[in-house]
Amino acid sequence: MSENEIESQYRELKNIISNYITNFDAQKLDLAFSVAKRAHKGQKRFTGHSFIVHPLTVATTLAEWKLDLNTIIAGLLHDTIEDGDATREELVEKFGEEVAQLVDGVTKVTHIRLVGSKEAQFIETLRKMILVMANDLRVVLLKLADRLHNMKTLYALPKEKQYKNALETIEIYSPLAERLGIGKIKGELDDLSFPYLQPKEYERVKKGSARYYKRSLTEITHIKKVLLRKFSDEGVPVEVRGRRKHLYSLWKKLQRSSVDWDFEKIYDIIAFRILVDSVKDCYIALGIVHGNFKPFPKIPMSDFIAQPKPNGYRSIHTKVFGPHGHIIEVQIRTREMHEQAEFGAAAHWAYAEAKSSNTKESELEKGVSITGDKIKWVKQLVQWQKELTDSKEFLEAVKLDAFHSRILVFSPKGDVFDLPDGATPIDYAFTVHTGLPNFIGSVMVNGKIVPLDHKLSNGDLVEIKKSKSFRNVKKDWLEFVVSTAARHGIRKQLRKTK
Ligand code: MN
Repeated sequence: MSENEIESQYRELKNIISNYITNFDAQKLDLAFSVAKRAHKGQKRFTGHSFIVHPLTVATTLAEWKLDLNTIIAGLLHDTIEDGDATREELVEKFGEEVAQLVDGVTKVTHIRLVGSKEAQFIETLRKMILVMANDLRVVLLKLADRLHNMKTLYALPKEKQYKNALETIEIYSPLAERLGIGKIKGELDDLSFPYLQPKEYERVKKGSARYYKRSLTEITHIKKVLLRKFSDEGVPVEVRGRRKHLYSLWKKLQRSSVDWDFEKIYDIIAFRILVDSVKDCYIALGIVHGNFKPFPKIPMSDFIAQPKPNGYRSIHTKVFGPHGHIIEVQIRTREMHEQAEFGAAAHWAYAEAKSSNTKESELEKGVSITGDKIKWVKQLVQWQKELTDSKEFLEAVKLDAFHSRILVFSPKGDVFDLPDGATPIDYAFTVHTGLPNFIGSVMVNGKIVPLDHKLSNGDLVEIKKSKSFRNVKKDWLEFVVSTAARHGIRKQLRKTK
């Protein structure tokens, strides 16, 4: 990339930012860009490009995710200490403590490496990463943007490094993106890693799927035409989208015994999505779809709006016969649900914006309450965003100390549970499964036996040894549990046993 191209990419970055932050501090950004250029002067990436292209691309990705200015600045500076000639002092002096901390965070995460492929080590790695994240979620978004660009340029690295980095991406970063609910990035990271890890399988899926993609596209084009007319007759505003299924997730599906490499059984080879404004419209849309295309009787429709998936995913999925008799999956959701499924933790920014422009308060409330606790802090952020846009206070708030009053603990399998501060093993048990509290034999935290009222800390590994026999819940548990789930569950059972 020439000097000119770099400058023009930088202008484009400013352009993207100005679309969602009015009157942003362009001087501060300019200074960050010039410090980054100086710090990386003369350095080249394996691709042959000047190093600055990398931080510039990372910053651009962060701007596309509509992150705040300091995160974008940290994106420009994220390698200046580690790989360039800048110092922490310089960053603090020129950009403030917050930017320096974001850069520190990214460096920390970078040093957490996949040490082995053994499950225990993998969980430990993921655990450390989530702890860094819990301090400031923006660090993880930064790291994901960094990884995304590194994966896009992986072709230029030596072979062994390609394999190692691809493995690390698929084993750590992509599950991390998934747990944060950022489906879009997870899919991208998977597909960027796949060809390096299993080149033959990658080719097999790519070649094998080509004709089914084409066929599905024809059907979908037809369905889309019919539906758009019907929706407009009914006066329901919709947007219809189709996206190719990611190859890696397609590959995983093909291996299921129920599919066994039969492409005919992949009904969502192109995810066909109908986006509407409200939950009510989702059901109207479902009626219109079923009224015009016969639903496939063997697989019932799934309503993840009435019953969201544990990760908060909401959508209605139904399968219908297309015009040529092939089965096509149709997904119906509101735009908010879509944003949340695609961008998860990162969505609240975009979400808050949509809210201030045209989303009705009642819709937002509805959307938030359905997914419950997990989204509460997102709601909190939306609230902050509204009250404190561009002020220093907001940035303080966004440091995701929404996690502050929450702790993250781990099951022996590495599942992460988010609990209120002060939570005990009883709270944990109710969060894992409502039946579990009746079978607690003993509790181990980080390998040591603890009493039931033990206060859990961030990052604890909690293991419940099950008893063989059913035991009633105890009234005195109410004195120390802190979660709504536990309190509610205990009371309910006490009423029954009276
Ligand atoms: Mn980097």
